[in-house]
Amino acid sequence: MNDAPSPDAIALHQALVTLDTHIDIPWPTGPDPFLDGSRKVDMPKMVRGGLSAGCFVAYVPQASRTPGNEDAAFARAIAMLDHINAMGRTENGITARVTPTADAIEAAKRDGVVAIVPCVENGFAVGTDLSRIAAFRARGARYLTLTHNGHNAIADSCSPRRDLGDRETEHGGLSAFGRQAVTELNRVGMIVDVAHTSRDTMQQAAEVSRTPIVSTHSCISALCDHPRNMQDWQLDIIKAVKGVIQITAVSAFLRPNAKPEAVTVADFADHVDYAVNRLGIDYVGISSDFDGGGWFSDWRDAGDSANLTVELVRRGYDRGALEKLWGGNFLRVMRVVEQAAA
Ligand SMILES: [Zn+2]
Repeated sequence: MNDAPSPDAIALHQALVTLDTHIDIPWPTGPDPFLDGSRKVDMPKMVRGGLSAGCFVAYVPQASRTPGNEDAAFARAIAMLDHINAMGRTENGITARVTPTADAIEAAKRDGVVAIVPCVENGFAVGTDLSRIAAFRARGARYLTLTHNGHNAIADSCSPRRDLGDRETEHGGLSAFGRQAVTELNRVGMIVDVAHTSRDTMQQAAEVSRTPIVSTHSCISALCDHPRNMQDWQLDIIKAVKGVIQITAVSAFLRPNAKPEAVTVADFADHVDYAVNRLGIDYVGISSDFDGGGWFSDWRDAGDSANLTVELVRRGYDRGALEKLWGGNFLRVMRVVEQAAA
C-alpha cells in the first residue's frame, strides 16, 4: 500500500480557501507572529501549510463575577482585539490582512495574502453591559463564544467552575440577559458560538438567534463522549438552523482520554465523516484550537494542515466537498449573519 500523499491532493489543498475557525494568540506577550517560532500558528506556518485564513480569538479566562473582574475582562478582550487587528501588516515577506467579512476572506485568498478574522471567546468579557458587544464588532469581531469554562451572566457552561462556586446549572441555559445578548449579536452581525456552552444553552441559543448558530470548536459525542462534544440531537439542531459544527483537533475530544501523540488525521476524519453522514456536507467544518490545546501527531501545527486534506481526499471527498468543509460552510453562515445585521 502506497501511503505517499498524492500531489493532486496537495495542489488541491493549496488552491482552496482554508479557514481554521479557532486559534488562540499569546497574551500579554509572545513571539512575533511573522517569524516561524514556538507557536503552533504563525504566519510562516500558515503559508507553508496552505492555511489561508484563521479566526484569531481574544480569549478571556473565567474569574469570579465581580464588576471589577468583568471590567478587566472587557479591557483585556479589547486590547487583544487591537493586537489581532495589528497583525494585518506586511513583515518578513508575508502580508496578512484583517478580513471581517466572508467576501474579504475570499479576496485575501485571490490576492495571496493571509486572512485574519478577529473573534472573542467567553461572554464573561461582556459582563452585564450589552454595549460591549458593539465595541467588539467595531474591532472586526465576527463571533462571540458565549461561555468558556464556568457560567457567566449570559449562559451556563458545559464545564461549571466549582472553584468559583458554580452549581451544575445557574440559568438553566441562557439567562434573560443572555437572550438580550444573542439579540444584540444578531443586530451587530456577530455569530453566536456555542462551543463550551451547556446543552440547554445551545438549544436555547438556536431558538432565540435569528441567524444560524455555530460551534467553532467541538467534536462528536457518539464517537467520544465528552461534555465539549455534541450529541446527535444537537447535531440535528445545527442542521435545522443551517448552522455548522467545526470539528476540532483536541485529542481528548477525538478519542476518549487520548494523548495528542496517539491521535491522527484519521481520527479527525472519522468525526468529519460521522457529521457528514448524519447532516450532509453543508453543516460541517474544520478547526484546530491551536495554541489553545489542539494538536495531534500529524497535525502538530498550521504547517501540517495539508495532511488533513490528504486524508479527506483518500476518503473520497471531492473538491466541492473540501471547499465546503474547509471554510465554505462557515462563510455561508458569515454571509447570512452579515445580511441579517441591522
Ligand atoms: Zn475554547
